[in-house]
Amino acid sequence: MSKVYLTGAGPGDIELLTLKALRVIQDADVIIYDRLANPDILEKAKSGCEFVYVGKEDGRHILPQDEINEVIYENALKYETVVRLKGGDPFVFGRGGEEALYLKQREVEFEIIPGITSSISVPAYAGIPVTHRGVAVSFRVVTGHEAPNKPASQIPWNDFKSDDTLVFLMGLSKLSLICEKLIEIGKPSNFPVAVISRGTTPEQKVVVGTLETIANKAKGLPTPALIVVGKVVELREQLKWFEKE
Ligand code: SAH
Repeated sequence: MSKVYLTGAGPGDIELLTLKALRVIQDADVIIYDRLANPDILEKAKSGCEFVYVGKEDGRHILPQDEINEVIYENALKYETVVRLKGGDPFVFGRGGEEALYLKQREVEFEIIPGITSSISVPAYAGIPVTHRGVAVSFRVVTGHEAPNKPASQIPWNDFKSDDTLVFLMGLSKLSLICEKLIEIGKPSNFPVAVISRGTTPEQKVVVGTLETIANKAKGLPTPALIVVGKVVELREQLKWFEKE
């Protein structure tokens, strides 16, 4: 009976892979992977393991989700141990839930192997704790994919008035719209923002600014990148540790 492991690859630094993920990667007969997963991970596979790339290039899917689901299913019919490797955590904007439902409907056994999500680890590598006593008592991970000016926006912008930390994934191309929207709901224009590009990798770059200045400052940063909005960004001054200057 074959099994599909929906596996989190972590944010980039290969050492942030879990022991459980490593075990199934070493056992896998086939690994179906995304662009975001660190390709060095594939070197851990046994010889003869098949590799299937179904990733996205700059937000553009090379395969639509329903075809990805089908690829996973077909591989489950063919192989015993199937690893579906996804960047970060499979259930944080990873569509892992959709893939699991598809397998469930077809009575394919699966396991979920959580991964270290970029939404907390990338800020951590930039010296930004997503919560900090007296500064932020909660954090929210928000999709930046949806245009904030879309009339039917499902993002509850009005819930973002507090000083809690906001982490936007997939939002780099919408950065100026996101900042305008946050100013519109009443955040001060000098509210701190950081953009972190290729976090946890040797190419990590961090740009710090305010809701007013960040869009200009972050121009041209490569993806993947995420946006952190909140007073916790100010802690970076003292807590940055990863980048060599
Ligand atoms: N499941 C993933 C997120 C998928 S959405 C997770 O848990 O991390 C993809 C988005 O994640 C990217 O657009 C970017 O905003 C963010 N991201 C992933 N890896 C990143 C990295 N190394 N540095 C910065 N942002 C990253």
